[in-house]
Amino acid sequence: MTSKSANNALKIIPLGGLHEIGKNTCVFEINDEIMLLDAGLAFPTDGMHGVNIVLPDVTYLRENRHKIKGMIVTHGHEDHIGGIAFHLKQFDIPVIYGPRLAMALLEGKLEEAGMSDRTELRPVRPRETVRVGNSFLVEYIRNTHSIADSCSVIIHTPVGIVIHTGDFKFDHTPVDGETFDIQKLAEAGEKGVLCLVSDSTNSEVPGHTPSERSVFPNLDREFSKADGRLIVTTFSSSVHRVNMILELAQKHNRKVFVVGRSMLNVIAHARDLGYIKCPESLFVPLKSLGHTADENVLILTTGSQGEPLAALTRIAEDSHRQIKVKQGDTVVFSANPIPGNTISVVNTIDKLMMRGAKVVYGKDKGIHVSGHGAQEDQKLMLALTRPKYFLPVHGEHRMLVKHSETAQSMGVPAENMVIINNGDIVEVNPAGIRIAGQVPSGIELVDASRVGVVGRDVLKERQQLAEDGVVTIAATVGSNGKLLADPTVQIRGVAQSISQERFQSQVKQVITQVLANRGAELVVSNGNGKAALDLDALKAALDQDLRRLVRRELDKRDPMLILLIQGAGVDGTVQSQPQAERKAHAEPRPKAEPKVQKKTPPQVEVEPQPEPAVAVAERRTRTRATAASAS
Ligand SMILES: [Zn+2]
Ligand SMILES: [Zn+2]
Repeated sequence: MTSKSANNALKIIPLGGLHEIGKNTCVFEINDEIMLLDAGLAFPTDGMHGVNIVLPDVTYLRENRHKIKGMIVTHGHEDHIGGIAFHLKQFDIPVIYGPRLAMALLEGKLEEAGMSDRTELRPVRPRETVRVGNSFLVEYIRNTHSIADSCSVIIHTPVGIVIHTGDFKFDHTPVDGETFDIQKLAEAGEKGVLCLVSDSTNSEVPGHTPSERSVFPNLDREFSKADGRLIVTTFSSSVHRVNMILELAQKHNRKVFVVGRSMLNVIAHARDLGYIKCPESLFVPLKSLGHTADENVLILTTGSQGEPLAALTRIAEDSHRQIKVKQGDTVVFSANPIPGNTISVVNTIDKLMMRGAKVVYGKDKGIHVSGHGAQEDQKLMLALTRPKYFLPVHGEHRMLVKHSETAQSMGVPAENMVIINNGDIVEVNPAGIRIAGQVPSGIELVDASRVGVVGRDVLKERQQLAEDGVVTIAATVGSNGKLLADPTVQIRGVAQSISQERFQSQVKQVITQVLANRGAELVVSNGNGKAALDLDALKAALDQDLRRLVRRELDKRDPMLILLIQGAGVDGTVQSQPQAERKAHAEPRPKAEPKVQKKTPPQVEVEPQPEPAVAVAERRTRTRATAASAS
């Protein structure tokens, strides 16, 4: 089970995508050469205030940048390409290969980030082979998934063949007619596959994931029932779904009004590349909405996850400038909410209904299917490739475990697979597979400014501000160790039962007491023979007692406490003081009122459970509609 030396083994190091759905980023390394496979992003979770994007810790890549020979991309979902523009600011990736649609979407992102000249994008067609460094020969094969132009890869390495499935399901009747190239999988299986790295998203779901085509008759039925305007929402990246909706619009004699920047963006790229085929005359600009008969209107919009800034959410809240819901409208949710979005989605549905719309949603309607294979799909993958070793990826822990059990039921011995976490170094060669150590594997957070990474300390402060508010106490203390004026207290964002006056007098009491007890020892000579206060020591002494007071009097909350202590001569002349306190004037008042950072939910669109993938918040301005989607 162990390999003797790291030198003759292939290292597979996932930096993201494990124990989570999102930010899939995988390192392949052998002979001092690194090939990257995908680099996605994930969503902020509750408590990540003001954070738009979550990226994997790429310390390992920064430190080994000289080894990076290139990247291969499997498909264009945000959880696979959304991180690339950010990483290029930190290290070079000489060349990036990927399917055409993924490369077109990535090109847009790099342009927006001003990173276009930092790498070379090379579109690859299925069955093409590319070389990365001297150690990796990568064969692209078409697979089937919820986005068009998705691929699995057969990686020929010095230790043997590794297959990375990318995201997949076996859809034998794909909307675009491009079937999974299972012949190539079987061929590789026949030659001998050293290791299979496979998508675990739906490993808890028995059976096969239905074909995307199965959605068509159900959508058709719902479209037939509508006699007023039709408003349809889905993930913009679900190119096949969008294609079907457009096909049905034609069938039902409806013009299409596209709303939401990501929807417009993906449709434009997919039409360019021929993945969506429909006449230009099908699309009508939104300004013509009022001149079109209700029964000829289909509004295709973002917002299937109840994202706060997405078009459908604004329509539901009656804050959309051009679209107002009215009696007779039918709204179709062709997407399921991921668990974290359920509340936002049901709120949106409620609001739409309250405004008189009929809303069609829910699993029983058959108007959404997953883009990831269930257990029987995963078994077919194992059966075709017959790997010696197995590495489940793209899933939360229980999904990885379940997938490994499925592999065992297919005859792969338990000792031939490892369940790993982000940052684990998997070493594999014909002699065995093992976890050979770890590399740093935390997360990096990018906020709305997009200029930098939000550190854990900043995040903790934001959490404290958002949850418990802030208390600012400013006081001026004379060089005789006595308060020169009543301290000023400002309380923001704290629910309090005590009155401001009472609290202020208690603060004064605490400060007076500390000064009475410790004042003498805090007065020091300033070097000119004059007495001065040791402000740092005073602040430290006050901090503890004031913090205790705040906690006791403000209903056991733990707000951020900002202490502004100003030293002054007994006559009021300000004592020179190089620290933050310097900002306070002799008449103590904080210069600026600290603002509480509001929690800004990400402008996102995600793919629904059971494929809760990722997507992102894009775009230069936060006010604009956004976001491409998910796994
Ligand atoms: Zn994915
Ligand atoms: Zn995907």
